[in-house]
Amino acid sequence: MIRCVWCRSKTAPAAVCADCGGPNSDVRLPGPGQAPDPPARDLPRGFRRRLRFLQNPYVLVGFCCGTTGKLVTAGSVLLGGVNGLSWLVGAAGGLGLCLMTIGPSLWAIGLAWSEKQIHLLRHGLVASGEVTATGEAQGGRQSFWVEYRYEVAGQQYRRTLRDLGAWVSGLEPGRPVHVLYRKKKPHQSTTWPPLGREPVRFNLSHLLEERKKARELKASRTG
Ligand SMILES: [Zn+2]
Repeated sequence: MIRCVWCRSKTAPAAVCADCGGPNSDVRLPGPGQAPDPPARDLPRGFRRRLRFLQNPYVLVGFCCGTTGKLVTAGSVLLGGVNGLSWLVGAAGGLGLCLMTIGPSLWAIGLAWSEKQIHLLRHGLVASGEVTATGEAQGGRQSFWVEYRYEVAGQQYRRTLRDLGAWVSGLEPGRPVHVLYRKKKPHQSTTWPPLGREPVRFNLSHLLEERKKARELKASRTG
């Protein structure tokens, strides 16, 4: 049994998922599978909802921040008349307003990311690609990456999809894949079917990762 990339249900390896009808991305199947339909293509049911909300950390954290902010602000307004608590009321009100600003911003960032992914899958132009390498991320996070290449108008492109499940490590270099790319920005692409979920990265963790890399580079130069 494998996990369907579209509906996340467990399904037997086959060309098409028995649950949602989505083209299957099982690496044990030979070849790249059925070619994508011409745009605008339909995405299997439930996939868009999952990408927009259930598997979108920005949207989930944004929702929690916004709701907490509203509750805290409402609480501070209710306590406003109690004598001797003005400092607490002021602090809670400030915190509530901050959360009410941060929450919707995170929500908007998350939605923009998911719309971009959905647009690429629905309207992307088709190119033939092939897997060039796979590997495991360092740090024991059980996260794997896949690199693939494709050609658009004589120009070669390479792209790496990160934070994927362990099963992609079974992809052999040279295995053909269907690639969908943006007409005006051909370096922006994804595979069809998607080789698993590519989660949104919080900028903070990305930033810390970049800082760590920079420190390591500096250390290797001086050491
Ligand atoms: Zn499915």
